Amino acid sequence: MSQRNPNLKAATVDAAAETPAAGPTQSNFIREIIRQDLKTGKYHGRVWTRFPPEPNGYLHIGHAKSICLNFGLAAEFGGKTNLRFDDTNPEKEEQEYVDSIMKDAHWLGADWEDRVFYASDYFQQLYDWAIKLIKLGKAYVCDLSAEEVRKYRGTLTEPGKESPYRNRSVEENLDLFERMKAGEFPDGARTLRAKIDMASPNLNMRDPVMYRILHAEHHRTGDKWCIYPMYDYAHGQSDSIEEITYSICTLEFEDHRPLYNWYIEQLGIFAPQQIEFDRLNLTYTLLSKRKLLQLVQEKRVSGWDDPRMPTISGIRRRGYTPEAIRNFCASIGVSKTNGTLELNMLEHFVREDLNKRAPRVMAVLRPLKLVIDNYPEGQTEELEAVNNPEDPGAGTRKVPFSRELYIEHEDFREDPPKGYFRLSPGKEVRLRYAYFITATRLVKNERGEVVEVYCTYDPATRGGDAPDGRKVKSTLHWVSAAQAVPSEVRLYDNLFSNPNPADVPEGQDFTRNLNPNSLEIVRDARLEPSLANAKTGGRYQFERLGYFCVDPDSAPGKLVFNRTVALKDTWAKVEKKQSAKAKT
Ligand code: ATP
Ligand code: MG
Repeated sequence: MSQRNPNLKAATVDAAAETPAAGPTQSNFIREIIRQDLKTGKYHGRVWTRFPPEPNGYLHIGHAKSICLNFGLAAEFGGKTNLRFDDTNPEKEEQEYVDSIMKDAHWLGADWEDRVFYASDYFQQLYDWAIKLIKLGKAYVCDLSAEEVRKYRGTLTEPGKESPYRNRSVEENLDLFERMKAGEFPDGARTLRAKIDMASPNLNMRDPVMYRILHAEHHRTGDKWCIYPMYDYAHGQSDSIEEITYSICTLEFEDHRPLYNWYIEQLGIFAPQQIEFDRLNLTYTLLSKRKLLQLVQEKRVSGWDDPRMPTISGIRRRGYTPEAIRNFCASIGVSKTNGTLELNMLEHFVREDLNKRAPRVMAVLRPLKLVIDNYPEGQTEELEAVNNPEDPGAGTRKVPFSRELYIEHEDFREDPPKGYFRLSPGKEVRLRYAYFITATRLVKNERGEVVEVYCTYDPATRGGDAPDGRKVKSTLHWVSAAQAVPSEVRLYDNLFSNPNPADVPEGQDFTRNLNPNSLEIVRDARLEPSLANAKTGGRYQFERLGYFCVDPDSAPGKLVFNRTVALKDTWAKVEKKQSAKAKT
């Protein structure tokens, strides 16, 4: 073993398997593999995982699955997880991404203590190991161009052809590789390749490239290197250096596993076990940093943290909680087949979490003036409102009530269709926490639109119940006009209108599936005055409308809210139906 990492201590097994810690609650096959290994003592009881993002973009909800899995399993078995930046591609990687990844992973609850590593820290070790492979006759410098390498590789049905440079002597290879490193050759002129098997049925084993020449400035190593290791050569060896026991990655790396193991075997170094699981895919959502970057660069969204983006920074700004995301990840488990989950399912967990903790308030998105004819002019009273029916400890607050109120435009209909129980002429409804009111007449503008509704109230129904026991079919939210706080509210719909955004006709790109109505800005919403000093990031339930979160664009006196998610929970309904079906 070459570089032993001082941070790596053996984890104790004892308490492990019994304590269901922060990890996934769904049964999962990786957990079973670990349990088995703990029994046989394969890694002497150590459980060590890593989360290895490439700093070429912001983290998205797919990464959250990987984070929860890696950190969750380690925590569950008393192990540890490293954060490692896979920074072997200097052209696409930036410090901004490193910073955002740490911030977002922390926010999700990942704790790597002091174990932040970079593949670039291992460049020297990787180079030394490459020399070792050359000396073992297992690697050679190849002068074929990228294009030629591709041609020689063959196909799934045809074997590849050996490179004419394959049988260079060790001395020549050492000399050329040294000169590649010294910067003697231009980009792409030569590569270092592993000497494996050009006839292997696995294309990854057909003399894969280990190093390429790239005269590019690296965000951490500057211009120290002009040869860079390929992902496959860097990844397993980085895992080995850190003595990772379980290198958990997504299914597309399954075919790379033989190569992963080959390098480690040839070098005779610590052998982590690569285990692949299914990538998270969601309907109406793209989870690819490259495509998300395109949306940012083309200004299709306001940035990586646009609340419509599936990035961690986007959904945080939108109001999603780390708890909701962790619960979602725990519930989906892992498997060996890729599929696509309903976006509704993620939203379900957001509602479920916010329902427990978001204080209720009243806000009117599209205000319609409501005047109570028989309420004394100039009078204001304070009514008691419950902060959170799910949490008795959250207490109550006072909301002002007066003669002029705002109600939601869509809560009034001059000609109500059948089954419309909200306000209409002659109809009595309840104002939440306040009184019963009956609409008496309305005022229209010159375009024939209703702009004011007049009503009467029944003072005996204060608090919302009639002493004579009479019932109403509907309860409306409202705000008192004089005290209400104006606010901008941003309503979001799916960023894409196609459930599979990547599904486009030949020659077109996914941006054609962007939903032109994914953002609706409501400029003149009115909020109850308790929200006047709401802080950025504050999350609330606007009664009957959904969960909302204060956007960082807010300024004193100019609040901006994002709708995190509407109240309707179609996923819960689907689940209920499914479980009802299952029972019959
Ligand atoms: P992208 O295609 O978005 O760039 P990536 O796999 O290239 O994704 P990395 O930065 O290499 O991104 O990913 C870090 C870790 O997160 C890897 O272990 C990867 O397998 C995992 N990961 C990435 N996307 C998903 C996803 N959709 N579901 C589950 N895990 C994912
Ligand atoms: Mg990648």
